[in-house]
Amino acid sequence: MPRKRTLRIAAALVAASVPFALVPGAYAGTKERPSGLVFLPNPVVALQDQDLDDQNDADYPALAGAYQVVRLRNLDHSGYLRGDWADVCGTTCAFRKKERFFYDRSDQEFEQVMAYYAVTKAQRYLRSLGFTDVNAEPQTVKIRAGFDNSFFDTVKDELQFGKGGVDDAEDMEIIWHEYGHAIQVDQVPGFGESQDALAIGEGFADYWAYTMSAPVSGGYDPACIADWDAVSYASSEPHCLRRVDLDLTLADRIGESHHDGQIWSRALYDIHQALGRTMTDTIVITSHFAFAVDTTFADAAQDTVDATRDLYGQNEANIVAGAFEDRGIL
Ligand SMILES: [Zn+2]
Repeated sequence: MPRKRTLRIAAALVAASVPFALVPGAYAGTKERPSGLVFLPNPVVALQDQDLDDQNDADYPALAGAYQVVRLRNLDHSGYLRGDWADVCGTTCAFRKKERFFYDRSDQEFEQVMAYYAVTKAQRYLRSLGFTDVNAEPQTVKIRAGFDNSFFDTVKDELQFGKGGVDDAEDMEIIWHEYGHAIQVDQVPGFGESQDALAIGEGFADYWAYTMSAPVSGGYDPACIADWDAVSYASSEPHCLRRVDLDLTLADRIGESHHDGQIWSRALYDIHQALGRTMTDTIVITSHFAFAVDTTFADAAQDTVDATRDLYGQNEANIVAGAFEDRGIL
């Protein structure tokens, strides 16, 4: 059986027929390690194909080109997916003594590799922005069976990813969304004690998925969140669990945090378009430190404007304020 698996993945790599050195973010030199096989960020975006579907967790030929070889960084070299910034298991823990974590989506270990890569990538990005104290610990991640839901368990400090439809952790945007919650709750312990704070939490998590995914999306509708996970839910195309570019204002609130979060994420999205990724993400993460656990949209927006002025000056602060004014928040 191991022999068969090796051949199957080799076929997938050949079918991709793209030299790895030419694929942005891919790891040149597949014999080197530690490395693993992932969807980056997911098959719908990677293949720019809205017709892909789950097919009951099968690895089928049309997906072959969606697999990418990536380098797995910060591992502790135990042979498990355990390292400086992530500690990942499922019902069993993926183990590869030689640190070549090559699985396909029908293997339960595949999502563990996805999660290890996505979490480590996000923490390394935070550190590249200068944040060395934001969730700076090995994040525990559990890939669960039996229910189709993913969440950040604040009591256990654990990310959990469900299965059913497309397995949630087969979509890196779902992983980055949940890690966004872990980031924010680390910065503001207990965050989410008001309806507004809950919506801001969901909005930031969607924005975080967007800002992590945009550089690897090839410009294919980056504002659409979880294009792959959503194929099981959404009948219209493009399939999106949510979007970060909807024209919603506070007047459109319905009291459901994921929906209402799209008001917040749109403001952050607009700031991102105006000020760029690095500046925006520095502002957004910095501003969280000032948030109250039961903040309001208006207070959190003002904290964000203030952080911008402190970091970059009045000009940029005016742009940020304008983005929140457009949402009816300020
Ligand atoms: Zn969420």
